[in-house]
Amino acid sequence: MFNMENKSCIKSKIERLKSGELTCEDNVKTFLAEIEKNNSKYNIVLDKNDKVIEIAQNLDKLRVNGDKLGKLYGLCFLLKSNISVIDLKISCASKTLENYNGSFNADCVKDIIAEGAIVLGMVNNDEFANGIGGESSAFGHTENPFSMGRVPGGSSSGPAAAVAADFCDIALGTDTGGSIRNPASHCNVVGIKPSYGRVSRYGLVDLSMSLDQIGPFSKDVYGSALCMEVISGYSAGDATTFDKKVLAYTDKKEGFKPKFGIIKEFVDMITNEKIATVFNAQVEKLKSAGYEIVDVSIDKISLAVQAYYPIVFTEFYSGTRKFDGVKYGELIESTGGEEVLRRIYGGEIISKSEFDGAYYKKALKVKDMIADEFEKAFKDVDCILAPVTPALPHKIGEKMSTLDAYAVDAFTTPSNLAGICAASVPAGIVQDDGKDIAVGIQVMCDKFCEDKMFAAMSIIETLNK
Ligand code: GLN
Repeated sequence: MFNMENKSCIKSKIERLKSGELTCEDNVKTFLAEIEKNNSKYNIVLDKNDKVIEIAQNLDKLRVNGDKLGKLYGLCFLLKSNISVIDLKISCASKTLENYNGSFNADCVKDIIAEGAIVLGMVNNDEFANGIGGESSAFGHTENPFSMGRVPGGSSSGPAAAVAADFCDIALGTDTGGSIRNPASHCNVVGIKPSYGRVSRYGLVDLSMSLDQIGPFSKDVYGSALCMEVISGYSAGDATTFDKKVLAYTDKKEGFKPKFGIIKEFVDMITNEKIATVFNAQVEKLKSAGYEIVDVSIDKISLAVQAYYPIVFTEFYSGTRKFDGVKYGELIESTGGEEVLRRIYGGEIISKSEFDGAYYKKALKVKDMIADEFEKAFKDVDCILAPVTPALPHKIGEKMSTLDAYAVDAFTTPSNLAGICAASVPAGIVQDDGKDIAVGIQVMCDKFCEDKMFAAMSIIETLNK
């Protein structure tokens, strides 16, 4: 189960792997044993890479021969099943793509493999990345290893749960409106949504192409920062990536004392007392440690969810036209689950109304307004703090209305709309119905300021040790 001693382990683990104290083969075998033992309990891994032992042995040979070893040498990864990997099932946790195997490696997969990472396999998620709890997968829900019986969060349920369950060192997920930060918070791990355009989306089955970003999960900030150094940067395969220097996010920013902002408009929206307590305690801890914290205003933030969904519906509808039963997999209209079909049919209606700009164009206007407001706020502060979710993870199987489920994205969608970077860091454990429940805190920074974000996250991680 969740191993606190293991929490800040990535740095030392790489040292052990590079020195040969731990072989790549042993690292792989330990994770495979854990998966073998617990996957039926958690339902995380959907497809396993059967070449991992051979890959690990080849990596071990590199070390013995004195060859150059990559930044992620010997680390084991699991990936959300919407990221393309050669010969693994890119099912998107759907019946539509149940038998679809990747024919190429996504850019992020090429990047991690080039730095010595080992891809163990593909993990569960909400179908086509639509959801908040991992319950909409066509292959059954994933359990939350930190709080059994509660949802692990979503839509990147599998990647977050995989890190929490000690199934891998690092996992990759995707975040369109919160799908990395929400499960990271519920599973007590670190999760990063990079700035839009920071990580290539080439090889990702998109949910909403103007909002999606691929990002890492790990137990410690160092692991995610290191992974981001490797997967960030320009790609000819994704026209929205920028040819902007990728910094060494793991470098310590000596003397950096970030000024934090708190979004005034969020204060009234934090209705869950337990979440409010964790959030306020974190703010107090930072203040006592001498950090300046001021209010900022993002006036249109309460419209974020209302702007987010028309964009997602329209872009998802358009993106799924390729699942016509001929090119890839089965016809999505005959195989998709309830939420997938809601978005396809809703998106179709919205697209028809677009000749007079009824929904999508209006939503884009709100998106721009929110982006402008964040830009102004970041003139005054380095980082903005917020809760990750408005509620604790619900019990598996508990019914929720569609609108209530969409409202769960209230604190996470604003940063996707603004294109800024944001992350969830473990902030506290609360008791609910006699269970330990993890609560994360969200750290947001301006576009392409991942370096500041990781520095601020390390400060919080250290204060919470
Ligand atoms: N809950 C949001 C949705 O269902 C977020 C999804 C995501 O970030 N992939 O659209």
